Amino acid sequence: MGRRVELSAEKQEEADKLFKKEAFNIVASDMIALNRSVSDNRDPQCSRVSYPKVMPNASVVIIFHNEAWSPLLRTVHSVVNRSPPEYLHEVILLDDFSDRAGLGEKLDGYIKDTWPDGIVKVVRAPERQGLIRARVLGAKAATGEVLVFLDSHCECNVQWLEPLVARIKESRSALLCPMIDVIDAKAMSYNGIGAGSVGGFWWSLHFSWRPLPQRERKRRKSSVETIRSPTMAGGLFAADRKYFFEIGGYDPGMDVWGGENLEISFRVWMCGGTLEFVPCSRVGHIFRSSHPYTFPGNKDTHGLNSKRLAEVWMDGYKRLFYHHRRDLLVINPQFNADAGDFSDRLQLRRDLKCKSFKWYLENVYPEKFIPDENVIAYGMVRNPSSNLCLDTLSKDEKMVFNLGLYGCQGGVSSNQLFSLSQSNELRREESCMDSVGGEGSPVKLMPCHGSRGHQEWTYNLETKVIVHSSGKCLDKVEEKNGGEVKVEKCNGKDSQIWEFENYIGPS
Ligand code: UDP
Ligand code: MN
Repeated sequence: MGRRVELSAEKQEEADKLFKKEAFNIVASDMIALNRSVSDNRDPQCSRVSYPKVMPNASVVIIFHNEAWSPLLRTVHSVVNRSPPEYLHEVILLDDFSDRAGLGEKLDGYIKDTWPDGIVKVVRAPERQGLIRARVLGAKAATGEVLVFLDSHCECNVQWLEPLVARIKESRSALLCPMIDVIDAKAMSYNGIGAGSVGGFWWSLHFSWRPLPQRERKRRKSSVETIRSPTMAGGLFAADRKYFFEIGGYDPGMDVWGGENLEISFRVWMCGGTLEFVPCSRVGHIFRSSHPYTFPGNKDTHGLNSKRLAEVWMDGYKRLFYHHRRDLLVINPQFNADAGDFSDRLQLRRDLKCKSFKWYLENVYPEKFIPDENVIAYGMVRNPSSNLCLDTLSKDEKMVFNLGLYGCQGGVSSNQLFSLSQSNELRREESCMDSVGGEGSPVKLMPCHGSRGHQEWTYNLETKVIVHSSGKCLDKVEEKNGGEVKVEKCNGKDSQIWEFENYIGPS
């Protein structure tokens, strides 16, 4: 039933050892039945939905590179056992050039013995493709009407397939993501997640989870209806097979891992389709903390793939990506910033007559904060007497932390990019400068709440002071790299003088 595995001290020791290599608890996984059941954690309304008799059939494409045996086979068993045969056309196991023992003849034999009807097929890549090209190879081998991509460490839940194919029957241009439940990498327990999030992104082009926007709450008439999402997390989604290729499949110039999820997300919206989360379709996924496989050439594939995506799809907004990744801005052999030729992808965008990235931001992701548009001021926030600038000091911006100071970097450090928003927040992408207003207490960066109060700051262009809603002035604690900032009674001294790199003014 997807419950946690308890290990003896001895087994736990072995598991800890192997965890370093596998990035999940393979000892626990090997102890669980390959066809274990999991608890049905769907919204109760889901089991009352009735689906049409005739629906498109699906090819489930599972790609893997050196995946461990038990998670791989548990994925396949869960697909076959929990998909109605009339909608499961085939399962394609795309082996991306694995060299791990057991994934060759042993796997072929197991599949032949277990599913003699041939529903599960193994296709082997002649050389390492990376997950992006591997999925395309799998999709090309598939002949079902719908493609469903899964990672090789998943478990499909009750009735997971029906809502996906039903929605594609209604709308062939919808890319659909199941709700991704969490299989705990340590205890191997299957944990349901709520249906309260959609996908977003950071300007560094990493994926983020966002709370369900108000407009979606209003638009949807019931909790079983699909949820429109600006982006998808990655490996788990369904698409009409022909439509997937019509909109350009995946970018074959992308290597190994990373960025392809945002690329296909931007592309489908900009080129006339939709991206939707399907609350009644649930698939568990083992979230590993690291990649248990090699990156040939030790390339930063996420960075290079993201550069391709920024160049092809983001128009002028690519500047915000490069603000985080100046190392990728020029083709500099020293930094290995060559993302290859992407002229085919630009041509695809023209052929499909896709809309602009501005359209995407305005219509699909209107709550996305743009640091240098429609703001009062942005850029470095500099204290002239010390030449120190406000700086995140590279701390994790999903956390709450004390804001710092660092020598001004001339605009090249993304840690020093701050914006004074039209609603008087001093902010980063998602986090806001916050002070409880007590004299001398450090100023923190924490999630923006959007209701002013402790997060309201005004800038006085004449006196160059930044005044907090408490009436106190932004001030330095210590004049040094890594020093903190505080609010203090306004006194006109040098330590309270601040200049914005770019001042536009209130609108
Ligand atoms: N994969 C692959 N070739 C690669 C890298 C990954 O086929 O070069 C497969 C991997 O086995 C998995 C899927 O792609 O099934 C997604 O990779 P991973 O699970 O590591 O990504 P994550 O879920 O951590 O984002
Ligand atoms: Mn995965």
